[in-house]
Amino acid sequence: MAVYESVTDAIGGTPLFRLSRLSGLGDGGGAPVYAKAEFLSIGGSVKDRAALSMVQAAERAGLLRPGGTIIEATSGNTGIGLAIIGRQRGYRVLVGVSDRSAREKSDILRAYGAEVLLAPTSLPKEHPDHLFQVVRRLAEEIPGAWLANQYDNPANPDAHVRTTGPEIWEQTGGRITHFVAGVGTGGTISGTGAYLKQVSAGRVSVIGADPESSVYSGGDGSPYFVESIGHFVHPGTVEDLWPESFHPGVVDRFERIPDRESLLTARQLAREEGLLAGPSSGTALAAALRTARGLGPEDLVVVLLPDSGRSYLSKALSDDWLRQWGFLEEPRDADDKEPTVRSVLDPAPLTTVSSRATLGEALAALRPVPGGVAPVALERQERRHPVSASEVTGSIDGSAVEAALAEGRARPDDPLTALLGPVLPTVGVGQPLSDALAALGAAHSAAVVLVDGRAVSLVHRSRLTG
Ligand code: PMP
Repeated sequence: MAVYESVTDAIGGTPLFRLSRLSGLGDGGGAPVYAKAEFLSIGGSVKDRAALSMVQAAERAGLLRPGGTIIEATSGNTGIGLAIIGRQRGYRVLVGVSDRSAREKSDILRAYGAEVLLAPTSLPKEHPDHLFQVVRRLAEEIPGAWLANQYDNPANPDAHVRTTGPEIWEQTGGRITHFVAGVGTGGTISGTGAYLKQVSAGRVSVIGADPESSVYSGGDGSPYFVESIGHFVHPGTVEDLWPESFHPGVVDRFERIPDRESLLTARQLAREEGLLAGPSSGTALAAALRTARGLGPEDLVVVLLPDSGRSYLSKALSDDWLRQWGFLEEPRDADDKEPTVRSVLDPAPLTTVSSRATLGEALAALRPVPGGVAPVALERQERRHPVSASEVTGSIDGSAVEAALAEGRARPDDPLTALLGPVLPTVGVGQPLSDALAALGAAHSAAVVLVDGRAVSLVHRSRLTG
C-alpha cells in the first residue's frame, strides 16, 4: 500500500477496471474494455495531472512567484486541481466557473479554499461578460497573477505524454490497441494519444468521444448537456478558435454520441459495474462500447473516465433531473402506472420563431400554430437538431401581437423583441401528466415538451385536463 509524503504524489497513478458486464463479452465477439478511473486521483479528476504540470511549468518559467495568484476559467475540475496544488504552495487561487457547471463543483472548490466566481459561457466568447473575458481581465488587474489557460498551455497535453500515456502502456503490458477519450481542452486525448501512438509505432488507434452537436466532430455547434467536453459555438461568435491543447491530428476518428446515450451510459456504469462516474465518462464509455463491438478478443480498448459522478448528483446522476429534461422515460418504480407526457405528444414538429424575426414574420409563422403561442429561440445558421432548451429566449403570443398591431402600439417591421413574452414552462417527455399540469401553474396555457433536452412540441392545458 502506498504511503505519500505529499498529496501531490497522489495525483494520477490511477487503476484500470475491466468492464465485463457492459462490454457484453460472453455473447460472442467484441474486445475487452478497461476503464482508466481518473476519479481516483486525489482531486477526483483527470485534471489534477494538467493542474500540477501547468503550475510546475509556470514556477520554472518564473511566471508564478511566492505570494502570487493562480487564475483559471474552468468547468470545475481543473480549478479543483489548481486549488489543491496552489493552496499547498501558498498561492491565492481564484477560479471562474461556468454558470452551467454542476453546483457541486463550485462547492468543492470553495471547500478547498479557492475563491469562486460564476460567469456565463452561453454568450459569444468575445462578450465582455463571458467567463473567458472575465478571468482574462482579472489576470491583468491583479498583481502577481498568473492565468493557467489550460486551453492553450502546452504543459496541459504534456502532463499526459509524461504520465497518463506511460501508465496505460505499462498497465496493459503494451497490449492496448484502441484508446478512447472525450475532448474538452484536448489535453488528455492529445497527450495520451500521442504517447501511445509513438510507443506502439502507430499501432494504437485513438478515438474521440464527442457530443453529437459539438463542432469537433462536425456537429452544428448547438448546446448539449454533457459538461466539460465538446465544443459549443454561440451563433454570435465572431471568430471560433479551437484550443491549442487539442491536436486534431492525433485523433483517428470520432464517435458522435447523443446526450441521451451519454447520460444513460453513465447511469448504467454505476448500476452495473459499480463505478460512479460523471456524464463525460458516459460519452467516452458509449464510444468505447461502440468501438469494442466491432473488434475481437485480441484487441484491447482503454477508455478514460475523467471524473466522479459525485459532482453531478443534482444533475446528470439524478433520475428526476434526467426525467425533467426528457432523457429518461422509464417508470419511477413498478407501481408507477400514471401515463407520461409521451402519451399526449403531438407528432407534428414544433414551430419556433427566430429571435431575429420581425413581428410581421412572427405572426406569419404563428398562423398555423394551435393556441397561437410559440417559443422564441436563437437563430442558428445551420441547425440539424430541434432547438435546445437553453437556446430558448422567450415566447411570442399571436393574439398579443395582433392586438398591438391593431391598436398601433407596434408595427409589422418592429423586431419581435418588442413583444417578447416569458420563457414557457418545460416538461420532460417521460414525466407523468400531473407534472405537466403542475408546470403550467395558473399562468400558462402551454408547456414546451423536452425530448433529449430539446424542444419538440407544446402540450396545451386542454390536452392534459381532457
Ligand atoms: N471530462 C471532464 C469531467 C473534465 O473536467 C474535462 C476537462 N475539462 C474533460 C472531460 C476533458 O479533458 P481535456 O480538457 O483534457 O480534453
